[in-house]
Amino acid sequence: MMQIYRPLNFIGFVYREIRQGLTDIEQMFALLDQDAEIEDKPNAKPLKVDGPVLKFNDVKFHYDPDREILKGISFEVPAGKTIAVVGPSGAGKSTISRLIYRFYDVIEGSVEIDGQDVRDVTQKSLRAAVGMVPQDTVLFNDTIEYNIRYGRPDATDAEVREAARLAQISDFIDGLPDGFNTQVGERGLKLSGGEKQRVAIARTILKSPPILILDEATSALDTQTEREIQTALDAVAQDRTTLVIAHRLSTVINADEIIVLRDGRIAERGDHEGLLAQEGLYAQMWNRQREVDEAGERLRKAREDA
Ligand code: ATP
Repeated sequence: MMQIYRPLNFIGFVYREIRQGLTDIEQMFALLDQDAEIEDKPNAKPLKVDGPVLKFNDVKFHYDPDREILKGISFEVPAGKTIAVVGPSGAGKSTISRLIYRFYDVIEGSVEIDGQDVRDVTQKSLRAAVGMVPQDTVLFNDTIEYNIRYGRPDATDAEVREAARLAQISDFIDGLPDGFNTQVGERGLKLSGGEKQRVAIARTILKSPPILILDEATSALDTQTEREIQTALDAVAQDRTTLVIAHRLSTVINADEIIVLRDGRIAERGDHEGLLAQEGLYAQMWNRQREVDEAGERLRKAREDA
């Protein structure tokens, strides 16, 4: 019997390895695809990060020439400060994060870090300096430990565990049968959106980049998860130059400045209290979100009571 099983096991093993390979290759191609048009200039220099200050100078951008997405955006994130970008769905918020990471280049204007145009520096040095927690994290088909350590492969075990703790994910990991050795991703344990995002936050804490872009998950998270993620994000944003792309408003109250994007332009800017006092688009969005949150809370309570 064993003689029959052995080849079957082997085929299973090969199949799994191929699938694993395919998934990683798919991810690689997805990344390469996004980078296809972006190349280093022949004289590109490594980015020198000192401050670091992030600046958008009258940036214009479109994916399709018929439809301008950013119509002249200027703002500055001073060193160590947090600026949040909010606005209606489709306003161009995530596009801003893609331009910083150079998934795309601006059409007009410039994006600068410490006075260096991101188009003049090597992509490798740019991506080493900028940490991105994307909306939707793709996990590798590997252990949870591998997925966190990816942020800095030479990190010690203690550092990996500390990053997980700061990202509010260690209790969850400790509760898994194989702890940090649990296989995750397509082929292993499927994590929820909130758990995946906390893995991404742990990865970024480990990478410890001077500049941080947080592109929040659009999907609604329950209040407890949202609070945990907020605590994790606060830990990683502390003293770093941070741009938060906020799809929900509850997370931006403490930002040093909030930029309200509408239709590819900055419609309003200021801090939370100042924007509420303006009684404009931000105040409208804030009130609407409060109504939605309250209705959700009532629904949850009614379900619990039923
Ligand atoms: P949301 O809050 O819904 O995530 P957003 O403000 O982050 O929205 P973006 O993702 O920046 O919006 O998209 C801005 C506009 O650009 C949208 O209308 C979107 O359809 C369009 N867009 C985004 N990515 C692409 C792309 N790769 N090709 C063409 N159009 C795109």
